[in-house]
Amino acid sequence: MSTTYDVIVVGAGITGSSTAYHLKKQGVQRVALFERRAPAAGGTGKSAAIIRQHYSTALLARLTKESIGILTAMPDEIGANGGYVRSGWVFLVPDAMIDAARKNVAMQQECGIDTRFLDDAEIADRLAWLNLEDVAGVVYEPDGGYADPVQATEAFVKGFRDLGGEVYVNTPVRELLRSGDAVSGVLTDDGPIEAGSVVNAAGPWSKFLAESAGIEMDMSSLREQDTVWEARGDRPLPEVSISNAVDAIYLRPLGDRRYVVGRGYPKDYFPVDPYNYKETADEEFVSEVQTRLEHRIPPFAGARRIDSYSALYDVTPDWYPFIGARGGLRGYYDACGGSGHGFKIGPAIGRHLARWINEGTVDEDFARLSYDRIAAGEPFVGAYGGNRA
Ligand SMILES: Cc1cc2nc3c(=O)[nH]c(=O)nc-3n(C[C@H](O)[C@H](O)[C@H](O)COP(=O)(O)OP(=O)(O)OC[C@H]3O[C@@H](n4cnc5c(N)ncnc54)[C@H](O)[C@@H]3O)c2cc1C
Repeated sequence: MSTTYDVIVVGAGITGSSTAYHLKKQGVQRVALFERRAPAAGGTGKSAAIIRQHYSTALLARLTKESIGILTAMPDEIGANGGYVRSGWVFLVPDAMIDAARKNVAMQQECGIDTRFLDDAEIADRLAWLNLEDVAGVVYEPDGGYADPVQATEAFVKGFRDLGGEVYVNTPVRELLRSGDAVSGVLTDDGPIEAGSVVNAAGPWSKFLAESAGIEMDMSSLREQDTVWEARGDRPLPEVSISNAVDAIYLRPLGDRRYVVGRGYPKDYFPVDPYNYKETADEEFVSEVQTRLEHRIPPFAGARRIDSYSALYDVTPDWYPFIGARGGLRGYYDACGGSGHGFKIGPAIGRHLARWINEGTVDEDFARLSYDRIAAGEPFVGAYGGNRA
């Protein structure tokens, strides 16, 4: 291990791994990636990794579109498959959200995204498994789907290594080193290591890292539960990923008639200590998911529960991530706060952030992801009336 780097990235989830890879790809010489445990050991490894471009801001819609391109190119570019499956994505919209969904679809189409409402004949033909009760509309994105979050992260790490990046697993960063208005490196158990820039991509643990250098971080860690089900029988099942806002559940195929199913907004969120939280799911949660799933997609009646677990969301005050430089602080970049939807934007965020660090250039709307928006009292606000992305 060297004692000086151009850039140190802390955290090998999807965000840190993509950033490290893109830094090397853009020609930065000495880059190190430090990971407390193993790549994808945080929320990334437990992610449902559903990919949809349906956002209420053009910035996040475009970033997801770009991420799909990056994931699709991985086998050719890196020689490793990120497990991206273009299965299509379906959004079940309740009456209360139909106007906002129409507005969003129009905005996304202007961004060049292939998305539209299905008509009744298409719904009957493609979604034969669906109970249409209370469904006011169905949005369909053919390019949406899901990825394998561990494979995608490992692919970036491989690409980073192949380009000469240095990866240190089981190597926690204990503190950020700071003098005055500059972050100058990190402290590991082997001692201090200097760096021109440090990227804080430590997910829910990024708050502690930032605070170790007196850097403010308004972030909560919330416990997110997911379940895995195997359908019995041979009735047709969804081939697409689904965000179901009618019953507030989401679902994505795992293959072999198995599916990841979780609960979407609105629901109760539980702030926890990211170093000490319950990693199993609550029985009440599991039975609630099962009831909603069986009601909406009847072929899941009597499905067998295969697994259930919980992991962490690193949530910011407006549910948009903290990315990039901050005013008044040199040598420090945030890359955290995925707020429960950070997998699908992580690949593209890594590319834009690397350019920001390397060239000092950044698109105007991407720069708004800086933590500075919180300090300035100018959070993002989504179109669904609340502040969800
Ligand atoms: C159950 C669940 C379902 C989800 N479903 C979806 C979905 O369908 N679609 C979607 O887009 N998003 C989804 N998300 C959100 C998405 O997975 C996350 O936003 C994203 O993976 C976060 O990636 P990250 O790299 O920012 O952080 P993390 O994955 O948390 O990575 C941070 C890494 O930093 C390491 N680390 C921490 N502290 C240190 C330290 N001091 N030194 C060194 N290393 C350190 C950790 O070990 C970890 O590997 C889901 C999340 C969960 C938990």
